[in-house]
Amino acid sequence: MSLSEDEFNAELAAALESKLGTIEWSDKRFVFPLRQRHALDYVKESIVLVGDAAHTIHPLAGQGVNLGLLDAKALAEELQRGIEAGRSVADPTVLLRYQRRRKGNNLSMMWLMEGFNRLFAQQDLSIRWLRNIGMSAADKVMPIKNQMIRKAMGLDS
Ligand SMILES: Cc1cc2nc3c(=O)[nH]c(=O)nc-3n(C[C@H](O)[C@H](O)[C@H](O)COP(=O)(O)OP(=O)(O)OC[C@H]3O[C@@H](n4cnc5c(N)ncnc54)[C@H](O)[C@@H]3O)c2cc1C
Repeated sequence: MSLSEDEFNAELAAALESKLGTIEWSDKRFVFPLRQRHALDYVKESIVLVGDAAHTIHPLAGQGVNLGLLDAKALAEELQRGIEAGRSVADPTVLLRYQRRRKGNNLSMMWLMEGFNRLFAQQDLSIRWLRNIGMSAADKVMPIKNQMIRKAMGLDS
């Protein structure tokens, strides 16, 4: 925040490995903390939390929107199922089914992102070396890579 615009643009270009070339202009800067949060319950009486209202995760792998969309899909499916069974949409049996479907999945993705965050923040050379070996191995072993891609795309949720 204390850098001049030119200094900031130079740092930003370096952080992007200059893949976009020289950065000549950037908009006004703001600072806000990135917090990981998770609601204890997604459902209370007839109130239901979805997306970032229920969980915010470190924006490390672009998972926030995916998780919210998966919440919305699961909630829509459980409401539909409840209606077909003749239940009210506010029936706790219906809403808690949504919570059960999503909570474990969201928590596991949150902890995975937190793990990556801590791993990539490590300055210790031996840990960084092991991390790089592991990442490059995962990149080369197609079944592992495909499984990670499917998980990140929300296809195995
Ligand atoms: C720096 C950063 C980078 C990110 N990068 C990515 C990324 O690359 N990929 C990705 O998938 N996700 C990313 N995310 C996460 C993603 O932005 C969120 O997960 C996603 O926007 C959550 O969607 P949402 O609809 O649940 O909530 P929000 O997008 O927060 O929408 C909630 C809306 O409700 C409105 N609102 C709040 N209170 C009230 C009120 N009382 N009355 C009426 N309206 C209200 C707000 O103004 C807002 O428009 C990033 C997040 C951050 C902070």
